[in-house]
Amino acid sequence: MTSEAATGTDAAPAEGRAPAEGRAPGAGDLMERIVGLCKRRGFIFPSAEIYGGFRSTYDYGPLGVNMLRNVKGAWWRSMVQLRDDVVGLDAAILSPPKIWEASGHLANFTDPLVDCRQCHSRWRADKIDGVCPNCGSTDFTDARPFNLMFKTHAGPIEDEGAVAYLRPETAQGMFVNFANVLQTTRKKPPFGIAQVGKSFRNEITPQNFVFRTREFEQMEMEYFVPPEEGMKWYRYWVDERYRWYRELGIAEEKLRIRPHESDELSHYSTATSDVEFLFPWGWDELEGIAYRTDFDLRAHSAASGERLEYFDQATGERYVPHVVEPAAGATRTMMAFLLAAYEEDEVGAEPRTVLRLHWRLSPYQVAVLPLSKKQTLEPLAREVLGLLQPHFMCDYDTTQSIGRRYRRQDEVGTPWCVTVDFDSLDDRAVTVRDRDSTEQVRVPIDRLVAELGDRMPT
Ligand code: ATP
Repeated sequence: MTSEAATGTDAAPAEGRAPAEGRAPGAGDLMERIVGLCKRRGFIFPSAEIYGGFRSTYDYGPLGVNMLRNVKGAWWRSMVQLRDDVVGLDAAILSPPKIWEASGHLANFTDPLVDCRQCHSRWRADKIDGVCPNCGSTDFTDARPFNLMFKTHAGPIEDEGAVAYLRPETAQGMFVNFANVLQTTRKKPPFGIAQVGKSFRNEITPQNFVFRTREFEQMEMEYFVPPEEGMKWYRYWVDERYRWYRELGIAEEKLRIRPHESDELSHYSTATSDVEFLFPWGWDELEGIAYRTDFDLRAHSAASGERLEYFDQATGERYVPHVVEPAAGATRTMMAFLLAAYEEDEVGAEPRTVLRLHWRLSPYQVAVLPLSKKQTLEPLAREVLGLLQPHFMCDYDTTQSIGRRYRRQDEVGTPWCVTVDFDSLDDRAVTVRDRDSTEQVRVPIDRLVAELGDRMPT
């Protein structure tokens, strides 16, 4: 049903008619458009821009911070809130060398670094297929290991005793707190510890916007299981994680599971699969699910002298649990959601850009739009906003024509616009307009929270 009231003089000509079928632009264009949209609409800004930027670091703007929180929130909801076998943790980012010695990162967390003999640029050897992306030369130095950890000093004295590292992954926080969590929660394998937070890697060649940056956010979970159940839980988590991306709207043809070849596996892992997304440059990793055996707990136990094992009082059995780890990137995943959601279509013979984001991920779930700037609509529009804000993340926009404002909300993925018009003053009803179908329905204000709630089931 199209509301005459909300599609009055201010409305776009044929708003309410079903949009023409949308399409995503070609791969190269798509990347450019996403980067442009992110900057223009306040999702992601180049960091320190007024000083000329700072080497592949990015700041998340007013819309980006909402969306990134939603990505992390959706992960936390699925991995912690909806389960009784996973608990959360938030460990320190600054950490002592002992952790990274025991985990093997000081010795092994390296990428192969080569120098181009022609233009003297430096590259990660495994990412360039033997050809310098800068000058096309194939003349390189031999590859040497380059450790990716950021080293710093804690406290005022910069000597060896003060060395600290910024964590390059969140996972070790879960291993070193294994005994603390076990004691305080009384969990029994199979159980998991989840963490979301920043990690830092001194990447040789950060690239592809926020796909690979030196500072990024991860969402990781260590799932501790009886040793004989390792492979079963590995398969379970590969399926679960694939399902998460699908449920949040990534199409089947853009998502795949890629099991690692045996020569790709880390020395401690017996099986790893990546969840891969079809990025504009091809298939690439969103998340790795690794069966890490008992490597980490044994390593930390040996280095710290603490017993890191599970004792089953009922059976008298004592063992070191095996670990299955789903490790995803929050910032990288946000970029994949943006790429997957981007479409261009036509509404009322006018082109529009639309982000078909799942409502859980959209920066705003609802936009409240008074039809006109006239003062008479403002008190009711603000009343409606006040009703919705405790339940949904809302935008409030009074600028430009209603048609333009719908386009602006479509472009940032807001699934529902609520328009307050002059009839609303008499009938205390508003128009709810759907981003994807552009369909509009009239809803009484006192039913509005429930109506929108039905569209966003928990
Ligand atoms: P790559 O091979 O791409 O360097 P990785 O296999 O070392 O990545 P993991 O250590 O498995 O990555 O990290 C888990 C997840 O963290 C990755 O799947 C990715 O989503 C994210 N991630 C890792 N490094 C970065 C980075 N530099 N920038 C953004 N996200 C990252």
